[in-house]
Amino acid sequence: MVNRIFRYELPTTIEFGNGAVQTLPQHVRALGGTKVLIVSDPGVLRAGVVDRLTAPLQENQLPFVIFSEIEPDPNIDSVDTATVLAKSEGCDLIVGVGGGSSLDTAKAVGLMLANEGNIRDYVGINKVPRRGAPVIAVPTTAGTGSELTIWSVLSDKKAKAKLSVGSAYNCPTLALCDPELTVSLPAPITAATGMDALTHALESYVNKATQPISEGMSLQAMKMIARNLRTAVVQGENLAARHDMLLASLIAAMAFNPTRLGLAHALAMPLGAQFKIPHGTVNAILLPEVMAFNLVGNLEKFKEIAGIFGEKTDHLSLREAAERSVSAIRQLKADIGITQTLSDYGVTENDLDAIVEEAMLSGNVPVNPVKPTLEDLKQICRAAMSAS
Ligand code: NAD
Repeated sequence: MVNRIFRYELPTTIEFGNGAVQTLPQHVRALGGTKVLIVSDPGVLRAGVVDRLTAPLQENQLPFVIFSEIEPDPNIDSVDTATVLAKSEGCDLIVGVGGGSSLDTAKAVGLMLANEGNIRDYVGINKVPRRGAPVIAVPTTAGTGSELTIWSVLSDKKAKAKLSVGSAYNCPTLALCDPELTVSLPAPITAATGMDALTHALESYVNKATQPISEGMSLQAMKMIARNLRTAVVQGENLAARHDMLLASLIAAMAFNPTRLGLAHALAMPLGAQFKIPHGTVNAILLPEVMAFNLVGNLEKFKEIAGIFGEKTDHLSLREAAERSVSAIRQLKADIGITQTLSDYGVTENDLDAIVEEAMLSGNVPVNPVKPTLEDLKQICRAAMSAS
């Protein structure tokens, strides 16, 4: 193995298990919180998930205010609105409950309680000067891993752009992970978010920035997803599958937090923002096409991925074995009902120049196992416009 220096940092404490949400009051107290701002979205509220948090807070006489206006691909302006609310209500601890949209916003609000200016000032990597207010992240999708990542992805809806704030100060103080809260997630969102988690594990595993700690976690996450994603989608009430998918998503996030990702995520950002494609869905559409392009950059690892997803490859050449990883992921997508293409969301040949130019600026491109040209990125998009 090549000797190189790598670093692994995980500022977030993790508490995980069925019923874990009951421990929320003791964590709020331990972190010195006297009044809580709960950040969530209307769907999570309607599903009764927010009640699972407010009940123990009430029982323990801990005051809280709820901000539940978050929309999918959260509007960056919501950070301002929620920060004003937190300040006017005297909230000193933020609890995000929901998918990546709610958690990313909650994390940014935590930052803005202790930092000057506007969250837009901190777009980019390592621009935040100070630690924020404590944030407890309670995930209700098994996909983004936002409950422990350095990232908040926020949308400028007018500019149709996604802006990312990345900072170790943006890692939540506590990831409070209760698989029971994911049982109400509808099948199509379970499928899309599960593919997001898989894309995290897989892109981190094959990319040039990966390191031994991340590699181990990527492998573990992929094995758990291979075993559990189909069941979680078709039997949403299966708590064992939900448990393992939430754990897999968390572990995948631990893998990619220090390594970044690859071309699926580089393209997913502009495509998601401009064509309103849910983040997990656009990753799922792109992943097999990106894998097919990347195979040559790491045939051994793609062969290993084929094995994880149940392909028998002993009788095959290395190249053929690696190719089986792509067909295995296409089969997984089909089994969980993801049949959309980029064309279904209105993407046309005329859109590709702008999309690939923006994607090429992403920090996920330099780490990709194969260095792409703009034309390569277009070819990946073209394949994802027709294939399903
Ligand atoms: P989401 O948060 O947008 O939620 C999708 C839908 O699922 C919403 O309508 C919500 O109401 C519903 N929902 C969530 N949990 C539910 C539950 N338990 N029961 C019923 N309904 C439920 O989706 P997401 O995929 O988790 O997050 C996507 C966002 O996260 C995007 O903005 C993406 O860019 C971002 N993201 C962030 C990171 C990161 O590291 N911070 C990583 C990947 C993606």
